[in-house]
Amino acid sequence: MQQPARQIHDVTSFGITCASCGNAVTELPFQPTKRDDGTYGRIFCRDCNRNRQPSGGGGFRR
Ligand SMILES: [Zn+2]
Repeated sequence: MQQPARQIHDVTSFGITCASCGNAVTELPFQPTKRDDGTYGRIFCRDCNRNRQPSGGGGFRR
């Protein structure tokens, strides 16, 4: 079985910083879109995104 390749967008040039830890966000699994207020909303770096994943609860499919 093959898993679908996760596309990573290089967002280094976007100058996005993590809303949680403030580190520069250099890659995202999605393409960020600018909003009316000129920001990209709350975007988290890869580490914080992983930490934000809810653990337990049986939401994970195996
Ligand atoms: Zn972070």
